[in-house]
Amino acid sequence: MFLNGKRALVTGSTSGIGLAIARALRAEGAEVVLNGFGDADEIAKLREELGAAHVNADLTTREGCEALMAEAGPVDILVNNAGMQHVSPVEEFPVDKWDLIVALNLTAAFHTTRLAVPHMKAQGWGRIINTASAHSKVASPFKSAYNAAKHGLDGLTKTVALEVAPYGVTANCISPGYVWTSLVENQIPDTMEARGLTRDQVINDVLLVKQATKKFVQPAEIGAIAVFLCRDEAQNVTGANWSVDGGWTTE
Ligand code: NAD
Repeated sequence: MFLNGKRALVTGSTSGIGLAIARALRAEGAEVVLNGFGDADEIAKLREELGAAHVNADLTTREGCEALMAEAGPVDILVNNAGMQHVSPVEEFPVDKWDLIVALNLTAAFHTTRLAVPHMKAQGWGRIINTASAHSKVASPFKSAYNAAKHGLDGLTKTVALEVAPYGVTANCISPGYVWTSLVENQIPDTMEARGLTRDQVINDVLLVKQATKKFVQPAEIGAIAVFLCRDEAQNVTGANWSVDGGWTTE
């Protein structure tokens, strides 16, 4: 297993895409550190399944990010995946939601990256993988904070990629279209309200309308790409923003 001896921190890995990435990295031998919220018994089960540590840090705060990195220790693979969404017209967008979304989806990745990079540079190997989104490339209405944060995450990733490239460290985004997770399911009611649509209309006419495959992406598909980005064959893949969106952002 090619990731034996490597330590991977995956933020937001108690469910959805992050959990799939954690499972995929573990299957290749990585030692995994989980982060994210959830039911204590469920998290205990995941820890047992993956032989993983879990750090219960709130990444919307600088203190939470710093506590996570201190507890996780030096990591060879950093996956910035924790994220949240809110759907609302910009003039009604709750200001506290804006602050939280930008803090979690963008600023947390800055904090974890700045704290992870010294070890990676010193040892001459590292992988930074950021779960961005099709919304890091294109916009949809009513998602101002999310779109701004994800576009920002793409910019952060490119900048870091250039800075760490001479040290054997790569930094990339993976950008899914719609993946069927709680994050997507939870935005359906607000999207119904914001657009005046039924649940089926939201699924077919909003969520899947631009995915030419007409399929939701599966979390394991994102895990497989994260594994590839850790391979030596991916040493020249850096600063990329890899779409997994069924053709959504194809021009
Ligand atoms: P999810 O809701 O299943 O998982 C989110 C994870 O983040 C959970 O583990 C949750 O506990 C954790 N989290 C939430 N708030 C946190 C906080 N304050 N501090 C630390 N952890 C916190 O959602 P998901 O769909 O798996 O989303 C994962 C990532 O993928 C997000 O960055 C999201 O923007 C991105 N993404 C999702 C989709 C999709 O369609 N589901 C599409 C594109 C991008």
